[in-house]
Amino acid sequence: MSESIEKVKCLIIGSGPAGYTAAIYAARANMFPVLYQGEQPGGQLTTTNDVENFPGYPDGITGPEMMIQLQKQAERFGTEVRDGWITKVDFSGEVHKVWVNDTKEIHCNTVIISTGATAMYLGLPSEQKYLNLGGGVSACAVCDGFFYRNQEVVIVGAGDSACEEAHYLSKLCKKVTMLVRRDEFRASQIMQARVKNTKNIEILYNTNTVEVLGDGQVVTGVKVKNNITGEVHDIPATGFFVAIGHKPNTDIFKDYLDLDPTGYIINVPGTSKTNVEGVFVSGDAADNVYRQAVTAAGTGCMAALDAERYLASIDSSFEVNTATNY
Ligand code: NDP
Repeated sequence: MSESIEKVKCLIIGSGPAGYTAAIYAARANMFPVLYQGEQPGGQLTTTNDVENFPGYPDGITGPEMMIQLQKQAERFGTEVRDGWITKVDFSGEVHKVWVNDTKEIHCNTVIISTGATAMYLGLPSEQKYLNLGGGVSACAVCDGFFYRNQEVVIVGAGDSACEEAHYLSKLCKKVTMLVRRDEFRASQIMQARVKNTKNIEILYNTNTVEVLGDGQVVTGVKVKNNITGEVHDIPATGFFVAIGHKPNTDIFKDYLDLDPTGYIINVPGTSKTNVEGVFVSGDAADNVYRQAVTAAGTGCMAALDAERYLASIDSSFEVNTATNY
């Protein structure tokens, strides 16, 4: 075996609440976890403004601040947090092989996948054009809303994310037009009420985006169509926000792990185990239902405990901590 190949007991892929919680537990269990942060260190929560529903923060906390605190907590117990992108895996053997940035090879006894999910777009050519130009298309109101202060924007989507982002934008922008493709929201009642009760948010039901309009450089409006009446009209806007859900970041695992048709990793019910022994999953990569920071953190804990028990089963010198150590 080449000396350049590193061996680790526990490799954690991803740096959202799932990955960091797994790291806290794995480090406290003497598994010396190495955590690769991935392309978006801190995960999706770094694009969220206030997190008001994570227990223990009565006044809320910003997403980025929460992620800094989770990283510090994981490092405090000895987690090695590294920059880097896992580009390839080979889970066919007893030792799980992982490559960082296509070069560095790591052999792992256990792998905890916490790669989360990525924002989806409509896929219209005009949307992609202005997205790539940086000319007014965004999937993150908290990141980009500031650029549209006192301007008119359009947001598409009808879930909790769309409501949260529309409400956030309403505080910055002159007017927010929300495009809902059905005659009702998917969002929870409280989030719906928030947008419905905000004066400068106009909701257009049964409305699809036909085209993002622009001057070749920046967005100038959105062409929409009522899917009941067939009526088409243009809405002036300088920003087009997309909040229509997420795709799990699981492509590199598809040759080895069982995925559902949307790409979510299938875990053994009630556990973090995948179909490959020693490979565990936590957070949004396996969760198309709850997708919350607190559920991601909970499954991160489960993954570390499952990994610890697995390590003990393959290495008699490795001892599972007693419950009091958790
Ligand atoms: P969801 O999957 O819940 O909602 C996606 C929305 O986008 C749906 O309303 C869907 O419409 C719409 N949509 C999908 N594709 C298109 C399209 N091509 N054109 C127009 N509209 C489209 O995703 P979210 O990101 O909103 O939420 C994900 C999870 O995170 C949920 O469980 C949510 O509860 C949770 N969440 C909780 C928050 C909180 O509690 N503070 C904040 C944000 C998210 P349709 O309804 O017609 O399918």
